[in-house]
Amino acid sequence: MNALDATNNLYANMLSGLVITLVAYSALVTVLIGTAPQTILNICRVTMFMLIVLRLSDYIYWRRNKPTIENYHPFSLRFKTLNICTAIVWAGTACWLSQYQGIEYQYITLLMLGSMTGGAVNVLSPSKLLVLSYTALLLFPISITSLLSDNPSLNIVGLLGIAYALIMLPVCKRAYGLAKENIQAKNQELFLRKEIEKERNEMASMNTTLVQTKLSLDQANADLEQKVKDRTIQIYRLSNMDSLTELPNRSAFLNDLSTQLQSASKQKLGLIFIDLDGFKTINDSLGHTEGDQVLIEIAKRLKNMSTIQSICRWGGDEFVCFVLLEDEADLANLAATIIKLIEKPIVQSTNLLSISACIGISLYPKHNRHAQKLIEQADMAMYKAKHEKNSKIVIYSEALKNDFGRTQMLISGLKNAIKKNEFRLVYQPIVDSKTRKVGGFEALLRWTFGHEIIPPDVFIPLAEKTGLIVEIGEWVLLEACKQTTKWTDMDDYFMSINVSAVQIANKSLIALLEKGLMVSNFVPNRLHIEITESHLLQPSNIVNENIDKIKQMGIEIAIDDFGIGYSNLSQLKHLPANTLKIDRAFVNALASNDDVIIKAAMLIANDYHFKTVVEGIETEEQAKYIASTGATYMQGYLFAKPLEASDVEEWQQHNLNDSSSSV
Ligand code: C2E
Ligand code: CA
Ligand code: CA
Repeated sequence: MNALDATNNLYANMLSGLVITLVAYSALVTVLIGTAPQTILNICRVTMFMLIVLRLSDYIYWRRNKPTIENYHPFSLRFKTLNICTAIVWAGTACWLSQYQGIEYQYITLLMLGSMTGGAVNVLSPSKLLVLSYTALLLFPISITSLLSDNPSLNIVGLLGIAYALIMLPVCKRAYGLAKENIQAKNQELFLRKEIEKERNEMASMNTTLVQTKLSLDQANADLEQKVKDRTIQIYRLSNMDSLTELPNRSAFLNDLSTQLQSASKQKLGLIFIDLDGFKTINDSLGHTEGDQVLIEIAKRLKNMSTIQSICRWGGDEFVCFVLLEDEADLANLAATIIKLIEKPIVQSTNLLSISACIGISLYPKHNRHAQKLIEQADMAMYKAKHEKNSKIVIYSEALKNDFGRTQMLISGLKNAIKKNEFRLVYQPIVDSKTRKVGGFEALLRWTFGHEIIPPDVFIPLAEKTGLIVEIGEWVLLEACKQTTKWTDMDDYFMSINVSAVQIANKSLIALLEKGLMVSNFVPNRLHIEITESHLLQPSNIVNENIDKIKQMGIEIAIDDFGIGYSNLSQLKHLPANTLKIDRAFVNALASNDDVIIKAAMLIANDYHFKTVVEGIETEEQAKYIASTGATYMQGYLFAKPLEASDVEEWQQHNLNDSSSSV
C-alpha cells in the first residue's frame, strides 16, 4: 500500500474517532466509575483530554500541511504514537476502573471497548500494525483482567472478550486488506486518469501539430502552385517572347502566321520584313545599352500600329510583321508609314538619335502559301532594298529571286577567291596636273570568277557585308606592296590602296600596314590609303585610334569620292586627311558647264592645305581645265586605264617620253 495514502486516510478518519473517543471516554470516567477515587479519575480525564487536544492539533497541522511522499513519515509516526497512547490510556483506565466497578459496569465497559474496536476496524484499517495493536490493546487487557477476576460471571465475560478479540484480529487484517485494495484501486484510477489526461493532452498537442502541419502543407502547396504558374508563364515568355522588346519571338510569330494562313486561306496577307539602317553605328559608337533602348523604342512604336496584325523581333535589328489586306496597293503606303515612324528622332538622355529602315515585302497567296517561304521572300526583298539606292521598300518578285541566287553564288565564290588565285590587281596611274608625270598608282582589285569578270562595284559591297573584305583587303595591300619591289627603273611614286570602312574599324589594320611598309620598303608617306569621307564623319573609338596611329606612322590618308558623301563643310577641317579625291561625277558635270563643286572643293583644299586628285579625266579639255583650277593630281582614262602590273613599266617609259615632250 502506498504509505503516504495510508497516512492521509488515517488522518482523514481521525475526527470521527476523536469525537467517539471523547464521548465514550467521558462516559467511562464519569458514569461507569463505581467507587473509583476522584484524584486518579481526574488524572485519567486530564491525560485523555490532553491526548485528544494533542491529536486534534496534529489533525489541524495535517490539514494545513498535507504530507508529501518525501515528508509523510513523521506524520505517520506521530499519528501511530498518539493513537497507541490513546489505546493505552483506554486499556489502563478500563483495567484500573474494573476494581471499583460493579459487574454491570464492567459488562458495559467491555461492551463499550468492543464497539470501540468495531469502529476502529474501519477508522484504522489503513495501517495493519495500528488496527491490530489498537484492537489488541483495547480488548486483551480488560478481557484478561475479567478472566482473572474472582467473579465467575466476569470470567465468562473475559473469555468472551478474548474470543471477540481473536475474531476481531482477522477482521482487522481483512479490513486492512480491503483498505489497501481500496487505496490501490483509487491510486490505479488516479493513475489511469492521469494517463488518460496525459494521452488526451498528447492527442490535443498532436492534433494541433497536425493542424499546423496541414496549414503549412496547404501554404506550401499554394506556394508551389503559384511557383508552377509563375514558371509556366516564365517558360512561355522565354520560349515565345523576345526578352528585350517583349515582342513575340520567331517561333511564336511563325505559329501565329501559320494559324492565320490556315484559318483564312482566302484572305490576302502582306508580310513585311523590316531591317534598321544605322543601328550598328549606334551600337558601336554609343554602346549596347543605348542600342537596346533604341530597339525597345522602335518595338513600342511598331506594336502600337493598329493595322499590324502581328509583329515579332526576328533577331538583331530585324522585325517581321504581317497585315491583312483588302488591296495590295495599300501595302506600299503602310511600309512608307512604318519607315516614317521609325525615322522619327529618338530622344535618349543626352542624345537625339535618328535611325531609318529598309523594308522587304512578300504577298500571300501571290508569292507563296507557306509561312516560312513568305518570310524568306520578304527577307530577300529587304536585302535588295538595302542595296537599292532609290528605294527603301522592295516587293518580292521572281527577278529578285534570281538576283538573290546570284548574290549567294557570288558570296560563296568570294570565300574561295584568294585560295583559288582568282584575284589580281591592276594599277591606275595618278599624274601630276602640271607635269603629267606619274605621281603614284591606285591599286584596283579585279576578280575573275570562273569565266566571268565581276566588277568591283558588285563584289566589294558583298565582301564588305560578309566581312570577307578584311581578308581580301589584307591580300590587296600586301600584293600591292610586294609589286612595288618588282618594278625597276621607276622614280619615286606613291601607292594608293582602297581601304573599306570595315577594315578601318578593324584592330588588325595597323599591324597590316606595318607589314606593308616592311614588304615594300617604302618610306611611310609613299603608302596612301583611300577611305570614303562618310567613315570618317561617323567615327567610333576604334576608328579614331586607327586613324591616329596611321597618322603617327606617317602613312597618308586620301578621302575617296569626295563631294558625293555627307559633306559637312564645317567638319572638313577636322578630317585627318592629306588628300581629297574629287569624284568623277563632278568632272562629268563640267560638260554641262557646272564647275561649282570643283571650284568649291579646290577652295576648301587650298584653305585646309589638302592635296587634290581629280578622278575620271577622260578628255584633254577636262585635263586642261582641271589643271587650271590648281588641282595637284589627275587620274583618268585620258592618261591610263587601270594597267596590268606587267604593263606598268612600259607605260611609265611612254609617260616619261610623252610628258617630257609635252613640257
Ligand atoms: P574608286 O576607288 O573610286 O576607283 C576608281 C574607279 O573609277 C575604278 O573603277 C576605275 O577603274 C574607275 N576610273 C578611273 N578613271 C576613270 C575614267 O576616266 N572614267 C571612268 N568612267 N572610270 C574611271 P573600278 O576599278 O571598277 O573600281 C570601282 C570601285 O571599287 C572603286 O572605286 C573602289 O571603291 C572599289 N575598289 C576597287 N578595288 C578595291 C580594293 O582593292 N579595295 C576596296 N576596298 N575597294 C576597291
Ligand atoms: Ca579609290
Ligand atoms: Ca573614287
